[in-house]
Amino acid sequence: MKVGVVGCGFVGATAAYAMVMDGVGRQIVLVDLDRQRAEAEANDIMHAVPFSHPMSVVSGEYSDLAGCRVVVIAAGVSQKPGETRLQLLERNTAVFEKVVPQIAQHAPQAILLVATNPVDVMTHVTVKLAGRCGIDESRVLGSGTTLDTARFRTLLGRQCGIDAKHVHAYVIGEHGDSEVLTWSCATVGGMRLNEFQKYRDIHIGVAEKTEIDQKVRGAAYEIISGKGATYYGIGAALSRIVDVLIHDQRAILTISARLHDVLGLSDVTISLPTLVGGQGVISAVPISLNDEETAAFHASAAIVREATESLNL
Ligand code: ADP
Repeated sequence: MKVGVVGCGFVGATAAYAMVMDGVGRQIVLVDLDRQRAEAEANDIMHAVPFSHPMSVVSGEYSDLAGCRVVVIAAGVSQKPGETRLQLLERNTAVFEKVVPQIAQHAPQAILLVATNPVDVMTHVTVKLAGRCGIDESRVLGSGTTLDTARFRTLLGRQCGIDAKHVHAYVIGEHGDSEVLTWSCATVGGMRLNEFQKYRDIHIGVAEKTEIDQKVRGAAYEIISGKGATYYGIGAALSRIVDVLIHDQRAILTISARLHDVLGLSDVTISLPTLVGGQGVISAVPISLNDEETAAFHASAAIVREATESLNL
């Protein structure tokens, strides 16, 4: 199975490396404006193949994406000194205006998985651009809060003294400052969190919740201040999402997708627990939030909506 990665900087290249480590797909094609970079990354990642899974990793042009089941889009430009968030968004939209039609032309059957930040806005941009090329919006998704949810589950599992696999707790909304940790619907081993606390005689109060919230919300800032960029976590998350897509695993992931009439919202692209399969986005899974979480989710959606509307797509 063939997977494309367009934009092989830190995030795109790490996603390709994670796919090789996980054995996701059989052929990976790397495309970048900087052809030399793409070739060097492909060669470097290919050297990990003998130690992992039998795969091929090559660099190529957009025409080499023909036959890809999934194309990860991690192309983008970084913020210039003094540049506003909106100016950056406009420049990244210009990048996507070049990239998306070319992917659609050469790999019309592909599902587009967006990783470029701000990921919700860039996923919305991709939905619009791909739609003009005849690609249904169910075939466009963003990595959204997949990584934030994984981090929430890990920290909550640690607090409960239980493997995170048995913790179901979602981070929804914007992948960014306004994201919402949905404590009210967290379950551990099938029990509501407060029942689990009674059963194990543990206490997760305001202080513990605040600490977990800050660790989830502030994770990227902390990493960026230490090393300038984040890519291992998101690379692994992208590999997992690609695996779900190419093997029709029907997993519930907090990817970013365009919503229609969900929790009172329409035509906004943000994260909710979503059923994902071989055809892409199947549907958002109903989630019952308390009043405070509902208000926070709507406020988060308003931030993403304001950014997308400012782009006049
Ligand atoms: P990140 O840390 O998000 O991965 P990088 O700046 O490392 O950011 O990577 C972004 C990549 O996107 C770069 O390799 C850059 O060359 C690539 N890129 C930028 N514009 C385009 C474009 N129009 N088409 C393909 N790739 C692009």
